[in-house]
Amino acid sequence: MNILVLGGAGYIGSHTVYELIDKGHEVVIIDNLETGHKEAVHKKARFYEGDIRDRAFVDYVLDNEKVDAVIHFAANSLVGESMVDPLKYYDNNLCGTKVLLESMIAHDVKKIVFSSTAATYGEPERIPILEEDKTEPTNTYGETKLSMEKMFKWTDRAHGLKYVSLRYFNACGAHKSGMIGEAHKQETHLIPLILQVPLKQREAITIFGEDYDTKDGTCIRDYIHVTDLAQAHILAVEYLMKGNDSNIFNLGNGIGFTVKEVIDTARKVTKEEIKAVVSKRRAGDPAKLIASSDKAKTILGWKPEHADLEEIIADAWRWHKAHPQGFQSI
Ligand code: UDP
Repeated sequence: MNILVLGGAGYIGSHTVYELIDKGHEVVIIDNLETGHKEAVHKKARFYEGDIRDRAFVDYVLDNEKVDAVIHFAANSLVGESMVDPLKYYDNNLCGTKVLLESMIAHDVKKIVFSSTAATYGEPERIPILEEDKTEPTNTYGETKLSMEKMFKWTDRAHGLKYVSLRYFNACGAHKSGMIGEAHKQETHLIPLILQVPLKQREAITIFGEDYDTKDGTCIRDYIHVTDLAQAHILAVEYLMKGNDSNIFNLGNGIGFTVKEVIDTARKVTKEEIKAVVSKRRAGDPAKLIASSDKAKTILGWKPEHADLEEIIADAWRWHKAHPQGFQSI
């Protein structure tokens, strides 16, 4: 297939491109490199640097390339930043998607897989979370992703543009090759921050609150290997190419780990002490987020292959140890 990947130089996007190329697909990438990295672009992909809010640019790419389906990762995704600068998120995430959809319709490209998030649910009413559960985001990031899902829904009704929305839980780990991994200019995620301690880039990891109603008082999350997420995107494209209807799927392992358990596992993997200090809660953090991914397993035939937290952290550690400054180390 010919797949256009928007945001293919970013963390999850670049891993998906590697898996697509591995399976013999033709890949075209659009990325504005605001948060993505040129070094993460697969050598066999055709790369267009530009912004999806620019209609002429998106038209140019779709005029030039034969595209069967689009996978859309091009969005801002920092919860904290989205609360300080909400309009940036509305502009990039929603205006960008609107322009993209207009261009896709004009070019008769009618299939899209889209990265959504567990943040669309907000504070869950039950665990594990099912796709039909209440969606009440507690931050602008989640709100814009939910609005994107709704934009797809109404565009499907009017134009028959079929979509799959994949609501990820906590993406982590790195490609087995060691070529690509997580490298955010502004790091906010737990596992890369923990690994900065044995890399001597940070004195200690801060635990955001130990007064939650969980077994050790720290938040519980569902950590999912980035390669397993990548595989789900390919299955979702295949699902759409078979003529199936639009759909929404959770992607997680269905197992929760506390922040303290993640730190302990990192200590085991790195064989380093890893100092931890407790501070107050981070605003907007739900106590517990665990996915039910039964729907993705049943309908897409998805099966996480790297669910073991030790393996996830070992893959991340291999990447960070070899690239302590991220892609700048290359
Ligand atoms: N967390 C933490 N210290 C950090 C970063 C994160 O205790 O320096 C906690 C955070 O409160 C959450 C979990 O780790 O409970 C995962 O946070 P992350 O930002 O990685 O992902 P999120 O669940 O917010 O998408």
